[in-house]
Amino acid sequence: MITAVAFTRRHDRQDARAWTIEAIRRIEADANRSADTHLHVFPLPPQWGVDLYLKDESVHPTGSLKHRLARSLFLYGLCSGWIREGTTVVEASSGSTAVSEAYFARFLDLPFVAVMPAATSQEKIALIEAQGGSCHLVADPTTVYDRARQLAADRDGHYLDQFTYAERATDWLGNNNIAESIFEQMALERHRVPTWIVVGAGTGGTSATIGRHVRHRRSTTRLCVVDPEHSVFYASWASDPAAFTGRPSRIEGIGRQRVEPSFVPDVIDRMFQVPDAASIATMRVVRQLTGRSVGGSTGTNVWGSLMLVAEMLSRGERGSIVTLICDGGERYRATYYDDAWVRRQDLELAAYTDAVLTFLDTGVLADPVTGEGTVSAPDRSAVR
Ligand SMILES: *Cc1c(COP(=O)(O)O)cnc(C)c1O
Repeated sequence: MITAVAFTRRHDRQDARAWTIEAIRRIEADANRSADTHLHVFPLPPQWGVDLYLKDESVHPTGSLKHRLARSLFLYGLCSGWIREGTTVVEASSGSTAVSEAYFARFLDLPFVAVMPAATSQEKIALIEAQGGSCHLVADPTTVYDRARQLAADRDGHYLDQFTYAERATDWLGNNNIAESIFEQMALERHRVPTWIVVGAGTGGTSATIGRHVRHRRSTTRLCVVDPEHSVFYASWASDPAAFTGRPSRIEGIGRQRVEPSFVPDVIDRMFQVPDAASIATMRVVRQLTGRSVGGSTGTNVWGSLMLVAEMLSRGERGSIVTLICDGGERYRATYYDDAWVRRQDLELAAYTDAVLTFLDTGVLADPVTGEGTVSAPDRSAVR
């Protein structure tokens, strides 16, 4: 005999399942309406025999590679039974992640709260609010994670926790993840298996997906992670604590003050640090040469890639390198693209700008500090 209570419970569970099915349909439908992101050719002299490609993650509906992460975190939460009808969804993020998550929360008619430092710019708050999210500001930036977890608990909600779940929410085997997409888009190129894929690390999720995927494909492609000057990731990976200044990164989206749980060091073949002036000088050169306005972490990626190109040239190697446009430059008009901001940060771009432009012209990459060279990327890959 089925009691009324048992019947009601089962009925509720069926309702809950119907809601989850509809939620997943809406997220998959967003992906189904979206095109894959382009793989642009970055202009290098063809006779070099080395080709550089930029995968343009700025063209996602929410403007950055965090669109992929937000989609994965929502699907992970839904399929794990953590996100249900009416669940308040919470994240600790002042940046692109919150913008993308607010977009998906709105699709599912769920309240979304971004917990962020009180110093977060009005522009960013406006972007999140424009997607229907709300912002919870805290005075002490180090407390955002605990505050987000607490807020979710208080409201019987779900803390998405990008820094913990990025590496496991993404399907690294396939499902048109960023790595699989790169390999498919390279299929008709003259060097179709990249020698290097070059990315930065914020959560570490993108590098984890790529590093695992290339192993599973039994590919020879190696993964290089470029880290900004103020970040603990390189120091941790290279077991060189002195390499971390302890200061927060100035390159938005990459570089952290703590080694995030989603950072998977053992799939990284090589890492090196990139000075902030190099990142910002290079992002401006990319805009000048390609007409595409890109963000700061893209400058880091391209600087690192050019170092590897220089190294391949000096060894007479041919091949291809793929890196990412992580987001567009519109978000950084008042910072990286503003000369007054750059001066206030005591950053000297000219030597790096000259180094990149001269390299593209002559194939000689001189050390921007000493003017000598050809420099090659500092290499600690021996330890891995
Ligand atoms: C998050 C982010 C990155 C780094 O990606 P992860 O997968 O989090 O390591 C790079 N650039 C920008 C602009 C980002 O927002």
